Amino acid sequence: MPPIAQRPRGTQDLLPADQPYWEAMSGTAKDLAERFGYLRIETPTFEATDLFVRAVGEATDIVSKEMFTFKDRGDRSLTLRPEGTAPIVRAYFDAGMQLEPQPVRLYYLGPYFRSERPQRGRFHEFRQFGIEAIGDASPLLDVEAIVLGWKWFGGLDIGGIHLLLNSIGDDVCRPAYRERLRDYYRPHLAKLSAESRTRFEKNPLRLFDSKEPQDQELKQKAPRMVDHLCQPCAQAFQAVKDGLAAEAIPFTLNPELVRGLDYYTRTVFEYQHESLGGAQNALGGGGRYDGLAAALGYRVTPGVGFAIGLDRTAMVLKERKPLAPPAPDVWALAVDPKDELYVFHLAGTLRERGLRVVVDPGAARLDAKLRKAAKRGARVALLVGPEEREKGEAVVRDMRLKTQVSVAEREVVPTVTQALSAG
Ligand code: AMP
Repeated sequence: MPPIAQRPRGTQDLLPADQPYWEAMSGTAKDLAERFGYLRIETPTFEATDLFVRAVGEATDIVSKEMFTFKDRGDRSLTLRPEGTAPIVRAYFDAGMQLEPQPVRLYYLGPYFRSERPQRGRFHEFRQFGIEAIGDASPLLDVEAIVLGWKWFGGLDIGGIHLLLNSIGDDVCRPAYRERLRDYYRPHLAKLSAESRTRFEKNPLRLFDSKEPQDQELKQKAPRMVDHLCQPCAQAFQAVKDGLAAEAIPFTLNPELVRGLDYYTRTVFEYQHESLGGAQNALGGGGRYDGLAAALGYRVTPGVGFAIGLDRTAMVLKERKPLAPPAPDVWALAVDPKDELYVFHLAGTLRERGLRVVVDPGAARLDAKLRKAAKRGARVALLVGPEEREKGEAVVRDMRLKTQVSVAEREVVPTVTQALSAG
C-alpha cells in the first residue's frame, strides 16, 4: 500500500532543524514586545466568517478569493483566520478591554490561513508575529509600532530591510480622493488590465497594486492620496515622519503603497527585504485602522499595528546565519541491555542538574553507539558495562578528547559536570 497522504498543499513541516530559527523569532518578539509594554494575546484559529467580511472588506483579494471557509454542524459559516487584527479587535471588546487604561497594547504569534496559489514565500498556512495598540489615536503609537518592528529585525541581525511609508487618508478625505482617482482613470478604462478594471469599480485605491505592464504608465501619473490629505491626516502623517526621523529609522515614502485590506486609515507601512525579490518581498506590514471597530459594529475606537510573516523571515534568516538545534550534553548507554534501567536512572540524576541527556536503548555495538553520539554532537558519553554495573560505577567519556575515566556512582554528576565545563 502507498503511504497514506502527503502534506497538504501550501503547508510546511517545521522540522527540528528549523526550530532554532523559529525560537529566535518568537523569543525576540516576546522579549521586545514586553519591553515596549505589549502583552500577549491568543485568539481562536477560526472565527465567524462575517468578522473578516466586515473588517477586511468584500472587495479585497483576501475575502473574495483567499479564505478557508467552512460550515459547522449548526450550519454557521466559519473561516480559518486570514489575519489577526479583526479577531483582536473583537476580543478587545469581548473582554471589555475598552474599559481599561488606553491604549491597550497586545502582541500575538500564531498561524494564519490564506488560500493563495502557493509559491516561494507564499503558503496556505503561515505564521505571523503582530502587535496592536488599541484605543488611542496618537501618531506616536504609529511610530512606536514601526520602531518595534524595525528593532525586531535588528534583534535578529537581519539587515537590508527597506521601510516603505504612506498615508491613505481617512473617511474625511479619502472618499473625495477616490472619486478624483476614478475621474482620472475613467477615460482610459479600455487600456487597463481586466483586474484593474475590476478594481476601478470596487476598490480604486488598489489600482496602485497592479503589477501589469499595461497599467504602469497610467499609474505613474495618477493623482496621489498624499497630495489630497485633509488637515488632520496631513498633520498626523508629518508627526509620524518626524518621529521616524528622530529615531533615525530610514524610510522611503511610497505613494503607491495602499495595502490589501480595507480597514486601514492614515499611516500604512511595509517592511521589504531585497533578498526575497519579486512579488513576495514584503516581510510584513501594517498601519492605522481607526475605522475598523466601527465597521465591526463597536464604538469608534482607533488602533494601529503590524503583522510580520515568520515563514518569509525564516527564509531570510536561514540565508544569513546558520543556527543549529541544541546538541545533547550527555549520551548515556549500557553495553548490555539488562543494565539499561540503571543507565536510565543515572541519566535522570544528570537531567535534574539541568543537563540534556539522551539514553540510547537496545543492543548494538558500543562503537556504533559512540558514532551516533558523535554524530549528534554529544560532548560526554556515559557508559555502563557489566563490570561497572557490578562495582556500582560508570565510565565518563570525553567525546572530544577521547579520554575516559571509571567513577563511582556518586561521582558521576561531578565528573560529567567537570568534563562539560572543561570544553
Ligand atoms: P499582510 O497583512 O497581507 O501584508 O501580511 C503580512 C505579512 O504576512 C506579509 O508581509 C507576509 O510576510 C506574511 N504573509 C501574508 N500572506 C502570506 C502567505 N500566504 N504565505 C506566507 N506569508 C504570508
